Amino acid sequence: MFVDRATITVRAGDGGAGAVSFRREKGEPKGGPDGGDGGDGGSVYLVAEDGLKTLYDFRGNRHWEAQPGEAGRAKQQHGANGADCAVRLPPGTLVYNDETGGLIHDLQPGERIVVARGGKGGLGNEHFKSSTNQAPRKATPGVHGERFTLRLELKLIADVGFIGLPNAGKSTLLAALTRAHPKIADYPFTTLAPQLGIAELDAQRRLVLADIPGLIEGAAKGAGLGHDFLRHVERTRVLVHLLDAQPLDGSDPATNYEVVRNELAEYSAELADKREIVVLNKTDLLTEPGEIEARVKELAARLQLLPGRDLIAISGATGNGTAELLEKLWKALNPGAERAEGWKSATPAV
Ligand code: GDP
Ligand code: MG
Repeated sequence: MFVDRATITVRAGDGGAGAVSFRREKGEPKGGPDGGDGGDGGSVYLVAEDGLKTLYDFRGNRHWEAQPGEAGRAKQQHGANGADCAVRLPPGTLVYNDETGGLIHDLQPGERIVVARGGKGGLGNEHFKSSTNQAPRKATPGVHGERFTLRLELKLIADVGFIGLPNAGKSTLLAALTRAHPKIADYPFTTLAPQLGIAELDAQRRLVLADIPGLIEGAAKGAGLGHDFLRHVERTRVLVHLLDAQPLDGSDPATNYEVVRNELAEYSAELADKREIVVLNKTDLLTEPGEIEARVKELAARLQLLPGRDLIAISGATGNGTAELLEKLWKALNPGAERAEGWKSATPAV
């Protein structure tokens, strides 16, 4: 599995101290105790937030604190309770106590749990009045809020899988599109490991991309890829099929396309049924005027794709066309988002 990890500290608020105070009113110089209680400290919650897919944001955001409760005051005034703190996490995040290593929680969609409890506020001296002590000077301090260091672990599901023959440019494209490279667990059954990265279209939109060299390259070498690998790859929703526009061995991109499609179908019917975006890569090598357009047109015809449909030309090396590819992928994965935008722009501005 691909694993994304982060370590954070959570600290609940301390309870506020109880107050020591005595009524001081005209005509009542020796008033009784009136010190109010301290407020409770806020708690830290873990909240499963739909749509969050990575722990990427936690890299720069390690400390999470709820507010302390306020101290009690004279005239029996209760201190204010401290505000809670919510840590929003992707559903499916495993939460471990970093010190003991124990699993605290497996966060399910829609869940909201307390992970660090705020301290109770202390008692003011009004509670300590008794028949023998009419003027107690005693109050209790607030209880400390809980603190923990948490290790978060998320098993990432790639949205997009890259396929193609060796040298099609899969690794280069992945490196060009992504910045974050979460740690990838070892695959003992093969020397080939899927590579994973997170592409950021903008602050709100992210795609998890996987280069899956094992699928074709491993199959060609007869490497056993194992069930885990296949199951993971099968959970990707869209495939990007990379074709080298100018293969060094002089082979033909359209033929290469069929080679990969056939292997794919043999390997897994489920994979072969996935939506696929065909990408003519390394188009920086096509330098004649109009050559790229002509090659795209020819390839679309030979692959019997509808004109302009799910075939784009890019260069992973220069970055040409890669922004368009990401937008295309986003739309393929979020068909609703496009409609919502269209609806918004169609609304008259009153
Ligand atoms: P993979 O086997 O599919 O992962 O392919 P790689 O990313 O390792 O690339 C194979 C070779 O093609 C390397 O020598 C790359 O430098 C080269 N390459 C990859 N992308 C491009 C590209 O867009 N343009 C050019 N000219 N070369 C590329
Ligand atoms: Mg590679």
